[in-house]
Amino acid sequence: MKGLPAETDFVVIGAGVAGLRAAIELAAAGRVLVLAKKEIPNFKVADAKSEAAWLSDEEDVSLHLQDTLDSGDGLCNLAAVKMLLEEAPERIDELIAWGKHHETKLTFGLENAHSKGRVLHAQGDSAGKEIFKALCEKSQSLKHISIAPFTFTTAIVTEDGRVTGVSVLDEKGVPQEIACSAVLLATGGCGQLYRNTTNPETATADGVALAARAGAEVSDMEFVQFHPTALYMKKVPRFFLSEDLRAEGAYLRNFELDRFMGKYHPLGERAPHDLVVRAIAHEMEVSRAKDPFVYLDLTHMRASAVQKRFPRIYAALMAHNIDITEDVIPVRPAAHHCVGGVRTDLDGKTNVAGLYAAGEVAATGVHGANRLPSNALLEGLVFGARAGRAMREMDRTAPRTGSAPQAAYSNGPVDAGLEELIGQIQDLMWNEVGIVRTRMGMQKAVKALEDMAPKLAQPKTRRKHEAANLHLTSLLLAKSALAREESRGAHYRMDCPDHDDKKFLKHSTIKVGGTVRFV
Ligand SMILES: Cc1cc2nc3c(=O)[nH]c(=O)nc-3n(C[C@H](O)[C@H](O)[C@H](O)COP(=O)(O)OP(=O)(O)OC[C@H]3O[C@@H](n4cnc5c(N)ncnc54)[C@H](O)[C@@H]3O)c2cc1C
Repeated sequence: MKGLPAETDFVVIGAGVAGLRAAIELAAAGRVLVLAKKEIPNFKVADAKSEAAWLSDEEDVSLHLQDTLDSGDGLCNLAAVKMLLEEAPERIDELIAWGKHHETKLTFGLENAHSKGRVLHAQGDSAGKEIFKALCEKSQSLKHISIAPFTFTTAIVTEDGRVTGVSVLDEKGVPQEIACSAVLLATGGCGQLYRNTTNPETATADGVALAARAGAEVSDMEFVQFHPTALYMKKVPRFFLSEDLRAEGAYLRNFELDRFMGKYHPLGERAPHDLVVRAIAHEMEVSRAKDPFVYLDLTHMRASAVQKRFPRIYAALMAHNIDITEDVIPVRPAAHHCVGGVRTDLDGKTNVAGLYAAGEVAATGVHGANRLPSNALLEGLVFGARAGRAMREMDRTAPRTGSAPQAAYSNGPVDAGLEELIGQIQDLMWNEVGIVRTRMGMQKAVKALEDMAPKLAQPKTRRKHEAANLHLTSLLLAKSALAREESRGAHYRMDCPDHDDKKFLKHSTIKVGGTVRFV
């Protein structure tokens, strides 16, 4: 697109599944500007998310409902789960129709914590890519939708408690304000809060921080899902090794090459996420290795079947000289999914008038205290569409005029001091607010984060905005985790290892400058 407009009807921040699905819904009601901080993938590049799986539109949703509730550990919002599953068939059917000409082959397989095969695969293991491709093509075919890549949102603008626009930095770092009637946040996850993550480098928790600064409540931030098996090799990205590998029979072995999952759960390698993660963390701790990890082992499986079922994983690891049919794979857990986020109702509405959120950045309570694998993409589709519909139907005031681009300042050279500060936040979160937490550790994290605040004031460059967003979101997360004095789902405290249903069978919620409440 040629330059950014000074005003539009709707701004959607994020061009992932949730943002694009919402934009498609909104296109019938006015001009939609979709912002993305980086490029929109061109599908020629193999990216980690292309390994993603998808859910079936099975007619009997009761088993899927039960699996979701079990994963959520008592905290799922039942109405949200029912809505997710009831609206899924329609969302999936329309998606398949939009991507019909792609000749996608769809098959169903079993994924961890699902009691029956309901995960849709396309052409080997690239279903995520096919889904995204269908959404991109559909949104690009609608004339009211414009997509602005490399446009970084720095603030949600409000007047008298109501959203009136967004502030952005364009590709060249030029600040501009875009006026609009309503904003949808669809900024994805927060994985970069942690030293080890499967998330892309863009997952710097911008959405949570933007919303919180605009006065929105955030909820359930303490529930961060760690993926058990990310590739662990020096100077290699934490490549995501799908749950499917264990679901199809891969073993976990410790440093001494012993299988260990049987000691922790009767389902062994197929146990729920959080249990597997903690079992691995424990095995790493007791190994006393200086640089501990465990192994994922497929060598007992038929080589041809492994190559056929996991062609992309096979090829990707071959590039690092690991033949998964013959070699064990070094792995470690990594931050994977932010269960909490900006608190919304089931139409994506936040407590700030004109501000909506959908997808991973939002907290509807649909995942409870832990997400069932594969429900995230479905969440983006279903709640993205719902938020789009709600925005379309809301009472709108005419957008006021936005500002012309202001004097440019550069995106800035790499600032070593800033990178060090980001590294400190990531280490603090990994060590003190990570897989296994304690009161003392989290108190230390909150204090250290509070002390850092002056160094992150008045950001000007994109990277400094990202650092400030990581910082604010870390603080909200650490305070929420400290306040939940029990263990539940993805939140595990060594000092309070059990549930406390009486006090904590509730959702945490916090605003900037406020204290955590349980509601
Ligand atoms: C490796 C990996 C594998 C996964 N596999 C599965 C799976 O098999 N099944 C499943 O259901 N889920 C899976 N997930 C989770 C799922 O992919 C995500 O939860 C989902 O894609 C999130 O979608 P979203 O639309 O909310 O955000 P995203 O797809 O993350 O999109 C976020 C968008 O927001 C933009 N953005 C962010 N900040 C700003 C800003 N400040 N200004 C402008 N734009 C901004 C980004 O550029 C991007 O366009 C996986 C996740 C990962 C990391």
